[in-house]
Amino acid sequence: MKKLIRGLDEFRRTYVHDHQELLEQLSHGQKPRVLFITCSDSRVAPNLITNTDVGELFVIRNAGNIVPPFGAANGGEGGTIEYAITALGIEQVIICGHSHCGAMKGLLKLNKLQADMPLVYDWLKHAESTRRLVLDNYPHQSGEELIETLVAENVLIQIENLKTYPMVRAKIHQGKLNIYGWIYEIETGEVLAYDAKTHTYLPPQSQLLEEEVSQGVRSCDLESEMTSDNLKSVRAKLEALLAVTPHSPGAAQLAIRSLKELFEEASEFGMATRELRDYHSLFAEPVQTWARKVYARVN
Ligand SMILES: [Zn+2]
Repeated sequence: MKKLIRGLDEFRRTYVHDHQELLEQLSHGQKPRVLFITCSDSRVAPNLITNTDVGELFVIRNAGNIVPPFGAANGGEGGTIEYAITALGIEQVIICGHSHCGAMKGLLKLNKLQADMPLVYDWLKHAESTRRLVLDNYPHQSGEELIETLVAENVLIQIENLKTYPMVRAKIHQGKLNIYGWIYEIETGEVLAYDAKTHTYLPPQSQLLEEEVSQGVRSCDLESEMTSDNLKSVRAKLEALLAVTPHSPGAAQLAIRSLKELFEEASEFGMATRELRDYHSLFAEPVQTWARKVYARVN
């Protein structure tokens, strides 16, 4: 407790002192752009991992980042979602699961929970679809691998649950609401985002790039600057990465991270749209193979 009280003081002296204008502005009202639904787990810190400021994320947290289906329970989630979408006009929702989730582990020992923690047992019933889907479809998995699959499938089940809310349905129909599924990995700080086309979790940057290319946002042609040494070096590294075959999940993860960084550098140094797109399609298949190796996911 002492630590927290010292922290309050430190917070006022440093953060509040340095952000007076922002805090004054926020005192008149909030305009968060994102509803972030994640687990209560202390190791997941939404603002920290997304490097966002106060006022930017509207957050719902509970054990297992669960969204009870519409009408199933009134534990606060439904009302908070309704407020976020209707009153705040939020158009982006992220449901973020995480590695080593205790709630997902709980799904595997429901009988014990019913006796020891009846309230947790009742709550986890909202993730019964996750449990059933995974046990029926991944019978060969166990241990950590099984937990990873539960985490990954649970995010997708909760997205489906979110879609049972009438105002969510209506907004999606109008093209005014996007829902994203993320998995945060505690040990690396890495986030992977669900890609419906490939039914895998991929680095979110690769989807962003794809969106930008398809929307033609980077349509300005910077071909003339392409002779820069920086760009030459990025190209060489991309070519080298193409030749890499990672043999372990760790190596695959490293390859994904390197690729992400190289794509960031490439656009930073002004690589032309066409070349970026070419590299993107060259890597489409390897990235899927790498992501599968990382998450060992089977369709
Ligand atoms: Zn958790």
